[in-house]
Amino acid sequence: MTQREETNADALRELLQRAERAVVFTGAGISTESGIPDFRSPGGVWSRMAPIQFDDFVRSEDTRREAWRRKFEVDRDIGVAEPNHGHRAVASLVHRGVASCVITQNIDGLHQRSGIPEERIVELHGNTTYASCLSCGTRYELPPIREAFESHGIVPGCDACGGLVKAATISFGQSMPEQAMARAEEETLACDLFIAIGSSLVVYPAAGFPILASRNGATLVILNREPTELDSLADLVVNAEIGETLARATGAN
Ligand code: NAD
Repeated sequence: MTQREETNADALRELLQRAERAVVFTGAGISTESGIPDFRSPGGVWSRMAPIQFDDFVRSEDTRREAWRRKFEVDRDIGVAEPNHGHRAVASLVHRGVASCVITQNIDGLHQRSGIPEERIVELHGNTTYASCLSCGTRYELPPIREAFESHGIVPGCDACGGLVKAATISFGQSMPEQAMARAEEETLACDLFIAIGSSLVVYPAAGFPILASRNGATLVILNREPTELDSLADLVVNAEIGETLARATGAN
C-alpha cells in the first residue's frame, strides 16, 4: 500500500471505532478478488453483451434461452468463488456489532458464505444461486435446471403453476424487491456511518442509499479503486484495493 492508502485506511479504522451503528453497502468490486469480474471490467461477460431486459425475458422464449445460457456462463466464475479478505472483514464488522447489516447489490451469495447471518444481509438485486417462479414464487434449485438445459435445451417452467422460472436476480427493467428496499432505507436512516465499497455508484435506485445516508447526516465513506459519481458527497474517499484496505481498517484477515 502507498503511504496515502495507509493513511486513508487508518482514517477509516478511526471512523469505525467511533461509529455507533455502521452500514456496509457493497457492489461487484468486493467480489473481484474472489475471481468474479465486476460489471465494467474489460472482457467480463457483463461488459461484452448488453444486459437482457426483464420485459424481453417475459416476452420471448429465445430470450429466456439466451438468459439461461449467459447465466450458466457467469456461474462458472461464481460457482468456484470463495469469500475473500474483503468479505471476511465485513463479516467481522457485523459479528462485532459495529455494522448492523450489509446492503449489497451483489448476487453471488458470498456475504452469506463469509458467515454473515441471512437476516443481516439485504440483497437489492436478488441472488443468482437459485431460481424462482415469476408468478407463484416457488423456489427452484439450479442443478436440475442446468442438467435439463444443457442436455436437452429445456427452458424451465414452473411445475406448480406453469409460470416462467428465472434466476432469482433482479433484471434491468424488473421491479425492485419491496421488502429489501424498505429494509435498506430503514437501515440507512438509522446509521451514523455508511461505507460504500466496490461500487461505481451509477446503478439506481441502489446508488440512492449513500446519498440518503449523507443527507440524513451520516458520515459517508467511499472505498473504491477508482473515482465514483458520488465522491463529492463523501467525508472520506479511499481509492485503494478493498481486501488490504479493509484488513488494515478492521484488523481482520
Ligand atoms: P460496478 O462494476 O459498476 O463497479 C465496481 C467498482 O468496483 C468499479 O468502480 C471498480 O473500479 C471497483 N473495483 C473492482 N475491484 C476492486 C478492488 N479489488 N478494489 C477496489 N475497487 C475495486 O459494480 P456495481 O456498482 O456493483 O454495479 C454493477 C451491477 O452488476 C450491480 O447491480 C450488481 O448487481 C451486478 N453484478 C454483480 C456481481 C456480483 O454479484 N459479484 C458481479 C458483476 C455485476
